[in-house]
Amino acid sequence: MKIFEKIVDLQNELFNVRKERKEIGLVPTMGALHEGHASLVRQSVKENSVTVVSVFLNPTQFNDKSDLERYPRDLEADCKLLEACGADYVLAPSVEEMYPTEDKRQFEFYPQSTVMEGAKRPGHFNGVCQVVSRLFYIVCPDRAYFGEKDWQQIAVVKRLVDYINMDIKIVECPIVRENDGLAMSSRNMLLSSDERQLAPNIYKVLNESKKWIDTLTVQELHDKVMAEINKTEGLEVEYFDIVEGNTLLPVGNWNASHYVVGCITVYCGKTPIRLIDHIKYKG
Ligand code: AMP
Repeated sequence: MKIFEKIVDLQNELFNVRKERKEIGLVPTMGALHEGHASLVRQSVKENSVTVVSVFLNPTQFNDKSDLERYPRDLEADCKLLEACGADYVLAPSVEEMYPTEDKRQFEFYPQSTVMEGAKRPGHFNGVCQVVSRLFYIVCPDRAYFGEKDWQQIAVVKRLVDYINMDIKIVECPIVRENDGLAMSSRNMLLSSDERQLAPNIYKVLNESKKWIDTLTVQELHDKVMAEINKTEGLEVEYFDIVEGNTLLPVGNWNASHYVVGCITVYCGKTPIRLIDHIKYKG
């Protein structure tokens, strides 16, 4: 496995890969890697001759400075994990390398980038689109791998790839959970041990709520999920939206679509740490 800090060095290497008509998979990450990231990398290794993983903590997608400052980083550990997963190349550029000049491009893809996380974290998806489009231009992958953990991000990236008109297949990978159901996330390591005990309650309630769709309306189920999670001291729901799986627009009743997903963001603990999760109700 080769590790590059300079974009041009990776591009030189990929020039030869492409000459041999080998297929390239890209896995964009922000580092502090765990089994969720590893599952994406393994899938790419299975489906492509060459897998590139980017490890770049992208400042333009953080609307909250303190969130960026406390985000965990450990490139050495990341590289060990990536090597074990069979990755071929790691791109780990500095911020100056990735953004030699300020990126002033604005991306907005209504409604996918404007609802939920888009509304609560202004500028977040703009930053995601800035960095993902740069990575796409740099690597020109055949396939790019994204986790369903960030449900809304996949919908936004699909719009982005159409918009920039690149022939890249967006591969959606299933969410990986801890044994107790908590969605794996780099931010989990910021939880104290007490907070870590509370966090699985989010998925416990979401999973339980699948049984309620036969007896409760969308609004009633929404209210019950909110109340059940908020009952746990130390957990506070920011939003819970029950949406159509493609447009991400709210559904008014269970028959509105054959594809319905509940997306949630919960603040956990004193700091607090912001955790996201989702559950598929239909489809
Ligand atoms: P991040 O480093 O948080 O930007 O994540 C990089 C990629 O890994 C994104 O496509 C995420 O959706 C994906 N990912 C993160 N956590 C998980 C997880 N628990 N299961 C599946 N994919 C994940």
